[in-house]
Amino acid sequence: MSRAASRKVLAAWLREVGVEYVLRPSLPGAGAARPPAGAPGFPSGAETLEDIRKELAGCRGCPLCSGRSTIVFGTGNPRARLMFVGEGPGVDEDRQGEPFVGAAGKRLNQWIGRIGLRREEVYIANIVKCRPPGNRVPFPDEAKACLPYLTRQIRAIRPEVICTLGATALNHLLGIEERITRERGRWREFDGVPVLPTYHPAFILRNAAREPEVFDDFETLARRLSPR
Ligand code: URA
Repeated sequence: MSRAASRKVLAAWLREVGVEYVLRPSLPGAGAARPPAGAPGFPSGAETLEDIRKELAGCRGCPLCSGRSTIVFGTGNPRARLMFVGEGPGVDEDRQGEPFVGAAGKRLNQWIGRIGLRREEVYIANIVKCRPPGNRVPFPDEAKACLPYLTRQIRAIRPEVICTLGATALNHLLGIEERITRERGRWREFDGVPVLPTYHPAFILRNAAREPEVFDDFETLARRLSPR
């Protein structure tokens, strides 16, 4: 049995006997973008989402800070089994301080509902936490500056599964350059956590014919989650 498979079996058994979570050292993984422990903005050791949020307050780590109204940190269950990673805040998110609150967010909520979960049960974050001007794609340097915080959020939450939404989220999280049309629905891994890429909901709003592929990906996600 592979290491990932045996970890999954062990996690399922621990849950069955009532153990909700286990503190464990970070696992060596595929995290191409993972900075070394102790790198700036990346301390080792257990920390909470609130610790990370406090550290981010007033962040001036990249030029996006000058155009933002709010830092869109992330939202949801700090012990979520399923975590979503999008690209970056748009105009609505920048105003409200919460990811995926516009039209794309509504579509994401529907997908989450299809697999029997509520938005409050999952965790949602983005590659960059400040709105790129004109809703452009974040530049590599902006993504690089913000990624240590997302990595720390992932480590604090330790979800069973991450779903990346769109090519930008997939490529910046994993430090790769792939096409989403090729990669969606194929399992990857980040820092020991299984990652399933799917399309961004904004893309689906413009390309409705591709939505059945997202439905398949959400079924795949649901099958991977431990039973509740
Ligand atoms: N698109 C994203 O990628 N993230 C958001 O938070 C909103 C729209």
